[in-house]
Amino acid sequence: MMTRISLTNARVIDGSGADPFTATIDVVDHRIVAVRRDGEAATSGAAIEPGTEVIDCAGRTVMPGLTEAHCHISFDNVVSMEAVVATQPEDHALISLKNAQMLMERGFTSLYSAAAAKPRLDVAVRDAIARGLFPGPRIRAASQEMSPSGNLGDIDNNYLQLPRSLAFAITADGVDEFTKAARLAARDGVDNIKINVSGDRDWGHMHADDTTTVIAEEEVAAVVAVAGPRKLMVSAHCTSSEGVKICVRQGVQVVYHAVHADEEARDMLEAAKDRVFVAPALGLPLTMLREAADYGLKWPAERFANLEKELATTRACMRDLHRRGVRVLPGGDYGAFITNPMGTNARDLEHFVDFLGFPPMEVLVAATKHGGALMQRGGELGQLRAGYLADLLVVDGDPLADIRVLQDHDRIEAVMIGGRLVKDRLAEGRRGVERRVAAE
Ligand SMILES: [Zn+2]
Repeated sequence: MMTRISLTNARVIDGSGADPFTATIDVVDHRIVAVRRDGEAATSGAAIEPGTEVIDCAGRTVMPGLTEAHCHISFDNVVSMEAVVATQPEDHALISLKNAQMLMERGFTSLYSAAAAKPRLDVAVRDAIARGLFPGPRIRAASQEMSPSGNLGDIDNNYLQLPRSLAFAITADGVDEFTKAARLAARDGVDNIKINVSGDRDWGHMHADDTTTVIAEEEVAAVVAVAGPRKLMVSAHCTSSEGVKICVRQGVQVVYHAVHADEEARDMLEAAKDRVFVAPALGLPLTMLREAADYGLKWPAERFANLEKELATTRACMRDLHRRGVRVLPGGDYGAFITNPMGTNARDLEHFVDFLGFPPMEVLVAATKHGGALMQRGGELGQLRAGYLADLLVVDGDPLADIRVLQDHDRIEAVMIGGRLVKDRLAEGRRGVERRVAAE
């Protein structure tokens, strides 16, 4: 039997960047079959089919579900990488599922994973949801981080010798080891391979700070050569300028951070803007800078000064890339550190508005339309259009007037994924006389 749902009187933000309009959205089974603007519906006489469940969205915004572009469902508010390793795989899978569902409840219907903490955590959650065992968001599952020895994620410290099944990051050196790591990730069933191309702010002790490119270009090429024929995507932790250039030259599709990208690197990103996505992942450094004290963290003044500098550099770079038409997406390492807790992911949209100065509509387009493209389903995901998958939110409020309404769990009143209501706070109002199911 077909399932028919019509959302009436909706103030629609359709994800394309068009101005909001009032419309009825008709959903049949998994897809949107019509978006009927108010005057049109009346003149065409299009009626709601018998057996349709009607959801009156008067006073609400209906918009596409959000995509989280830098997601780590297995990073459960990390205190230390050692603690992540100590979580047993079975427990870790359940924690990952819990986080995926939490994000769904908060309006993220698509998760692009930026890395898993163990080999098959993302894969197991993705597949369990796809098999219908649990409601959950769409997920592109990631591998563990793959990193040259002596870099971000390498906690082996010469002594631990962690097995692949537990290691936080897979250390690989040379073309053969990167090839093997990528092939094993493909064997696990991942969709995205993650490589650490540069160092990071806190890895100077291993001579791998955020300005340092730690990988060899042929190592990146080796990973891309595994990914390409298997239709996997490659994403990179990449803060250094030379690293960005390597990524673009070698066909890495997602460049995270890109903090220090110089003019030449930005030119290259611009030239590749139809195939590359950039996500600065602002949540983590911004909350480290502004909110560390709330978590009892007492860091030296120098660390805060460095964060401030890094963020100013990031902001200038992201504004320039945005101006050049490069797709810059929200998604900010939520859960990767205690200052930036899992579930607060919609704060990243606020950071794009307040910190980067992007217009709210463009931030919504980035999180929806560009998100659908990031999920490699741009022709059917991320917008409210006839023929598209019915992944949408009913929001109590106007995110264009105040982007923060998307952070309020209670104001995300309904979440639909593939035509199925996975959260429905409006159901109560539809019971009894209020519930209007057109007569058969
Ligand atoms: Zn990350």
